[in-house]
Amino acid sequence: LVRLRARLSRSQNALGKGLLTLLSREHLDDDTWEEIEDTLLTADVGVQPTQELVERLRERVKVLGTRTPDELRGLLREELLTLVGADLDRTVRTEPEASKPGIVMVVGVNGTGKTTTTGKLARVLVADGRSVVLGAADTFRAAAADQLQTWGERVGAHTVRGPEAGDPASVAFDAVKEGKEIGADVVLIDTAGRLHTKTGLMDELGKVKRVVEKHAPLDEVLLVLDATTGQNGLVQARVFAEVVDITGIVLTKLDGTAKGGIVVAVQRELGVPVKLVGLGEGADDLAPFEPEAFVDALIG
Ligand code: GDP
Repeated sequence: LVRLRARLSRSQNALGKGLLTLLSREHLDDDTWEEIEDTLLTADVGVQPTQELVERLRERVKVLGTRTPDELRGLLREELLTLVGADLDRTVRTEPEASKPGIVMVVGVNGTGKTTTTGKLARVLVADGRSVVLGAADTFRAAAADQLQTWGERVGAHTVRGPEAGDPASVAFDAVKEGKEIGADVVLIDTAGRLHTKTGLMDELGKVKRVVEKHAPLDEVLLVLDATTGQNGLVQARVFAEVVDITGIVLTKLDGTAKGGIVVAVQRELGVPVKLVGLGEGADDLAPFEPEAFVDALIG
């Protein structure tokens, strides 16, 4: 965690440090507040959350009068924690029940890191003593099933796959069936994410979901978003939310951007918490999203 925190803070602290420096100016005039706004907008926090935060900061700084550095830091920390939703429940629901494994469907546009995230999540679960079945329902991208199976072999999870270009829903169905039969704790289903035809995506994901739910209800639908795509990610999020009920967001490639504000924007957009973050390409680079660590890394 310390290592992850260090990596996060390297990429993110432009935002928090910038805010603290600006707030520490002796005269907080309109120009400075505009700079504060710009800093938040540049970090992809989004227009409305930015305005709300700036309004609260203005009010609180006014009430405070003279400001010590510690007071300012504490105030900023508190407000940023509120902004990222420190109280949201971010548990990834993977608990098996008597009659069925926990079932998690992973969705998102190709290239966002869906397969990698599925593999990393399997690794975390296996390390936690859970048995995992992987469903390679991304039958569209030729290499996806191989990639997932490689992850499976690496972490010790069985992969269920179908014929190339086969029916994703039937792979998902088989994976859950297999999971039930062998008494697995968790079934993770990787799906395809072609966005160029929205109807195609809707049909396909909708079908995967319906077919899986013939076995048992889904416990989680995790939407994988690439943090470096900024506002584009929000557009994607909207489309997916129309098709399936997203229960959690995984924000990948947070290691490669200073635009951590997207956490705030996407949570607002979907009304769903960021549950996991991807902080690199390696197997250990998936972490729970921890608001406190995130905000501390922001402020530096
Ligand atoms: P998919 O098409 O959505 O399944 O995407 P992949 O899982 O194949 O990932 C696409 C690329 O993103 C790969 O090169 C991954 O190694 C990389 N990737 C995934 N997650 C992260 C992350 O958190 N950080 C970084 N830097 N790269 C990532």
